[in-house]
Amino acid sequence: MSVQENISQIREQMAAACARAGREPDSVQLVAVSKMHGWESVIEAVECGQKVFGESRVQEAIAKIPRCPGGLSWHMIGHLQTNKVRQVVQYFDVIHSIDSLRLLEAVNQAAQQAGRTLKVLLEVNVSGESVKFGLKPEETPAVLEASNRLMNIELTGLMTMPPVSALAEGARPHFRRLRELRDEWRAATGIPLDELSMGMSHDFEVAIEEGATWIRVGTDIFGDRTK
Ligand SMILES: *Cc1c(COP(=O)(O)O)cnc(C)c1O
Repeated sequence: MSVQENISQIREQMAAACARAGREPDSVQLVAVSKMHGWESVIEAVECGQKVFGESRVQEAIAKIPRCPGGLSWHMIGHLQTNKVRQVVQYFDVIHSIDSLRLLEAVNQAAQQAGRTLKVLLEVNVSGESVKFGLKPEETPAVLEASNRLMNIELTGLMTMPPVSALAEGARPHFRRLRELRDEWRAATGIPLDELSMGMSHDFEVAIEEGATWIRVGTDIFGDRTK
């Protein structure tokens, strides 16, 4: 199937999941994850109205983004090292994968130097050992508190990657946990944390049922990443 057909099918699935959960269809946004696919694939998606794209490697993204149309919104979704933040701040509008206070401070400083403000999400490891990246739930409130004094970032929500599971249902408890933690931390800190970035190709419908506002879908749009 073409990128166009894939995207329209995903939009239908998104709408159906919203209906099942009693949510407004426009309460969930699709981040098209174009990592390991070329700018030609991005353009195919743009042609059917897709404007938000996700990338997980800085070098790859900064080679690709200048070849793509302007007016798109690029989201960094992959693990990020502090020595890359200057470039990230130049090319991206949103970072989903902030997993330490040190990284958050580095992004804030780079954004300040670039004269802009970036939206960021904290990546939370809600499931423990089996997942490599993300803040532990018990470390997160301190980072939320510290974010109040960083003027060039806007902390808009939380992201999670559940452990790999064959069945989409396996991710549900982790998605639900992230939403519960969000509710708890919102009440405790007063930070709205409106965005929940959760759900990928094989489990985005479950994520929507559990409150995702951004789903990050690669394979179901662009096909396998074979490189
Ligand atoms: C690659 C990636 C995705 C997309 O995964 P698919 O299974 O291809 O939809 C989503 N989120 C992150 C953080 C990724 O690295």
